[in-house]
Amino acid sequence: MERFKEHVKIDREKIFQLLEEGKNPSREDILEILRKAENKEKITHLDIAKLLHIEDADLVEKMFQIAGKIKKDVYGNRVVLFAPLYISDFCVNNCVYCGYKRENKFHRRRLTMEEIKKEVMILEEMGHKRLALEAGEDPVNCDIEYILEAIDTIYDTYNKNGKIRRINVNIAATTVENYRRLNEKGIGTYILFQETYDEEVYKKVHPKCLKGNYDYHTTSFDRAMEAGIEDVGAGVLFGLADPKFEVLGLVMHNEHLEKRFGVGFHTISVPRLRPAEGVNLETFPYLLDDETFKKIVTIIRIAVPYTGMILSTRETAEMREILLQHGISQVSAGSCTGVGGYEEHIKGRNVNQFATADERSPKQVIEDLMAAGYIPSYCTSCYRTGRVGEKFMEIAKSEKIHNLCKPNALTTLVEYAVDYGDKELLAKVEKFVKEQAATIENKKLEQFVLKNIDKLKAGERDLYL
Ligand code: SAM
Repeated sequence: MERFKEHVKIDREKIFQLLEEGKNPSREDILEILRKAENKEKITHLDIAKLLHIEDADLVEKMFQIAGKIKKDVYGNRVVLFAPLYISDFCVNNCVYCGYKRENKFHRRRLTMEEIKKEVMILEEMGHKRLALEAGEDPVNCDIEYILEAIDTIYDTYNKNGKIRRINVNIAATTVENYRRLNEKGIGTYILFQETYDEEVYKKVHPKCLKGNYDYHTTSFDRAMEAGIEDVGAGVLFGLADPKFEVLGLVMHNEHLEKRFGVGFHTISVPRLRPAEGVNLETFPYLLDDETFKKIVTIIRIAVPYTGMILSTRETAEMREILLQHGISQVSAGSCTGVGGYEEHIKGRNVNQFATADERSPKQVIEDLMAAGYIPSYCTSCYRTGRVGEKFMEIAKSEKIHNLCKPNALTTLVEYAVDYGDKELLAKVEKFVKEQAATIENKKLEQFVLKNIDKLKAGERDLYL
């Protein structure tokens, strides 16, 4: 079937109209929408608008529970771990919310390939297998050739058993040709935050900059997918515009990609605006309090049940723990958000794009996750076995993903403990993994995990289904 070729167009007036129509929903309405959501029946834009207006505490609580159940059904108790790697803070843009904005005067730099290797070795020593490559936008000082070379360098850098197995890339909107070249390098997800779907706000917060072209930015995933990239990761910077508007924007954008390419967002990130150099948070009228943020994450989970949701160290350990119950499936750990940040951190200096709020080491994050009953996962197997894009979504929608992901996640956890844990952690992980493996219905898969414990201890690595 010939799919249509139009680029996405977010209908601003339509969103405002839906938000108006959805005001003051009746209890019966909300209960019916939540019933549909619980059964994973399709809910409409108007349904989502109504959920966004819920105020009654008992309905909010019911919605939290349903989102938690959806998350459990689709993702189980796995939590995927990753870290960002900032390679260049050159930026021609002047985004009002960002510490890298061009009017901030500081010594800018991009890492040499040698420096990238050093950063990667530190990340590998922490146990990371999955990175998000980050850079400011500067077609001269940080061109596509540099990004492509950096990707090669990262994939080629080993530290004992450490190896980066998936690089997700978060660079500015670019051309089909550049996306094609990124795809040829074997990137994981191409990530780009929309920042805001509200075109008027978008233009205000990106004054006089390359990034200020709303249409070019919003249609980037159309170009990326035309170029063959199958996994794209969206995000909104919460705090810039009305969060209710943003949720509908995300949902409409996702539906557009589903319609055009057969698959929507692989992930959605939910960053909240943080303090940064030269950024006065008091000038942003839509900063989200914790309660509203929880509702927003919950409604996104309900609206797009099969899309992974990512939370960064912009949030505190406590908030991250709460949001895992509401729908988050991936978190970063041990992050530095500055160029050369990992080495700088070891030396005790700090050069961040924005302030982080969870300073725990990956080891601590792993221990806390296990204590709360989650399986920390370094798995990258889907992408390496070709389970990407539409194929991944088919598996996710059949809810058979546990059969593959749980054994793989448990295996990567053991691998982490063997390589980076002490005796105590290894013993704790082994006990936890055996308990978790016992809950796998398919006994062959349970055996796969148990055998992997021995194989990994005997020196084998990188085992997956
Ligand atoms: N240059 C790329 C682009 O234009 O998309 C990469 C973006 S940057 C390295 C990653 C993200 O950090 C941005 O998309 C933005 O949402 C987020 N960010 C910028 N300033 C922030 C702040 N003060 N607080 C929280 N997040 C921020």
